[in-house]
Amino acid sequence: MQVLVLNAGSSSVKFKLFSAKIWSVVASGMIENIFEPISTVYFNTKYKQHVYSEKIGTHANAIELLLKMLISHQVIVAFEELDAVGHRVVHGGDLFHKAVLITPEVKNKIASFAPLAPLHNPINLEGMLAVESMIENVPQVAVFDTAFHHTIPSYAHRYALPNFLYEDLGIRRYGFHGTSHHYVASQTAKAMGKKIHELAMITLHLGNGASVCAVKGGKSIDTSMGMTPLEGLMMGSRSGDIDPGVIFYLMNHTQMNANDIEHLLNTQSGLKGIAGTNDMRKIEERINQNDPLAILAMEMFVYRIIKYIGAYAVALGHLDALVFTGGIGEHSAKTREAICTKLTLFGVQIDTYLNQQNNTLCRSIHDPSSKIALWVTPTDEELSIAKETVQIINRL
Ligand code: ADP
Repeated sequence: MQVLVLNAGSSSVKFKLFSAKIWSVVASGMIENIFEPISTVYFNTKYKQHVYSEKIGTHANAIELLLKMLISHQVIVAFEELDAVGHRVVHGGDLFHKAVLITPEVKNKIASFAPLAPLHNPINLEGMLAVESMIENVPQVAVFDTAFHHTIPSYAHRYALPNFLYEDLGIRRYGFHGTSHHYVASQTAKAMGKKIHELAMITLHLGNGASVCAVKGGKSIDTSMGMTPLEGLMMGSRSGDIDPGVIFYLMNHTQMNANDIEHLLNTQSGLKGIAGTNDMRKIEERINQNDPLAILAMEMFVYRIIKYIGAYAVALGHLDALVFTGGIGEHSAKTREAICTKLTLFGVQIDTYLNQQNNTLCRSIHDPSSKIALWVTPTDEELSIAKETVQIINRL
């Protein structure tokens, strides 16, 4: 069985083609900068890596190109060889608590959540339609970023706003990165030789987008992203938590309108707002040269994370493991060390030698004396989506 996974971001599409028997990756790649005059296409097979520059223009064009490349690079002979397509869908509102087969009704519902995720849900739909137009009758499955968080209790997912805003407009915390939090929590439990149902964990997905999740007995009980992926941690270019009063102040005292402020908070803030770059590698280099803004950016990034860890440890009532994932979580030993050395209250002891080892395996980085296990667990959202897709297809 061959399963294609499509992960459409606001200006990119990532894909992986899996052979579902042994979950090996047959081909993978990405098209980035879709709306720019020139996009970049990365297409990897088992034997070769290709990089092209091309004008793409839309997500539908990008997906059509990727599908055609599967044939032109002889990964498959015909589209009929694809048994299913799994899509990462960002917002499932409070309707989708697990992955579903894509039907006309499901597409309508995903479209109805577009106001909650205007940069993502419309392009997720565009991807589904592009596949339909190229491959007749291939089953498609939607896997929602929000689904894992449906177990968050009301007292944690409601905002302290008038009830009608929740009832009429669905304004509440939904949370995102759910596939990743669920995947790394499960992988870590396995690596610890424990059942996930027995564990209390905090998972830290630290990439360009960043979020924390409190996972109790395998279920999300709280997460830092909210109705949109803007709330919570300081991120690559997103502000995370701010006083909402800042928005009114900007509207009343500058020329900025709501769109300008949304753009500012999503794309000009976070690490980029403080240090001028969202690239943690560059920030680390500048910290080594004593650059004060790079030092401040890292201090702020870490401080926000430890505040959430403190809060979620209390919410969980007990903590067995802290799990790092995402580009920064998996690769930045400096960030992990800065976080862990501030958690001595919880009896956390990082092993600095293990922490410095750079590999791509799921690995522990704590000292034997640590009261809380520390793990670096690489995320694989595409694999997780492929597995959920196969589960749905097998039930048909
Ligand atoms: P996205 O949310 O876009 O998928 P990623 O999970 O790829 O993002 O994470 C991107 C972040 O990871 C960037 O800040 C990048 O600088 C950081 N990163 C990647 N590799 C390293 C590394 N070796 N050391 C430090 N930071 C890294």
